[in-house]
Amino acid sequence: MKTKFIILGCGNSFGTPRIDGYWGKSKKDNSKNFRTRCSALIIKGSNSVLIDTSPDIRIQLIKNKIKNITSVLYTHEHSDQTNGIFELRPFAFEKNKKNKINFWSKSKPINVYGSKKTISLLKRRFDYCFRKIDIYPPIVRANFIRKSFNLGKGINTIKFKTIEAKHGNVSVTIYIFNKTAYLSDCNDLSIINKKELNNLNLMIIDCLNIKGGRAHFGLNQCLMINQILKPKKMILTNMHYEMDYNSLSKRLPKNMVVAFDGLKFNL
Ligand SMILES: [Zn+2]
Repeated sequence: MKTKFIILGCGNSFGTPRIDGYWGKSKKDNSKNFRTRCSALIIKGSNSVLIDTSPDIRIQLIKNKIKNITSVLYTHEHSDQTNGIFELRPFAFEKNKKNKINFWSKSKPINVYGSKKTISLLKRRFDYCFRKIDIYPPIVRANFIRKSFNLGKGINTIKFKTIEAKHGNVSVTIYIFNKTAYLSDCNDLSIINKKELNNLNLMIIDCLNIKGGRAHFGLNQCLMINQILKPKKMILTNMHYEMDYNSLSKRLPKNMVVAFDGLKFNL
């Protein structure tokens, strides 16, 4: 069974353009510069694993014609990774043959996974999603990640490994699956010493700007990591509106590409 991957969104917390219509250095005539907030999807048969629920998740799933989500992996607690959690309702509630939602039936909460810290913060912020409130059934069920775990059944099983890294003062979970690592928010150069990140086919990595910052890698760090860890391919994500698709693409070695919303490939 093939494993497909979709970059649903590759913008930083503001998105491009910003909500007030500001495009920065990103050329607005290039559709690849229109960036929603970071989320991604791994699909293997009926197993459909979402990474993060961005505030744009509803429109991201509609655009990519996604009809089902079986579980969600959270990288960390920031709003641009989590605020779309409430949008998972149609995947948790029973639907009749005509696809209408039956609000009042028992829900099948979606299993969400994260570190102990991420899950406890999600429960505090989105309490109403984790338990029945008034007449509304729960939308999600909390699970803690382990160093390695599987999601899905039989030929649709996806194997995950996790490692923790720093993103400014916050800890983030890096998910590794199918020789691919996803780290949309990170500025932790100690990752170059992680054996789990050697011999990857693909690394999807935070590239907020050129120089990097207090919580994010920039192009300078991505180039260095690429030279040291040597993934076969590196995809830059979580980009600021000051990062124009074409200008950035011209500066990259052959194995590195700039993400755009809706980028799809097989792993
Ligand atoms: Zn973040």
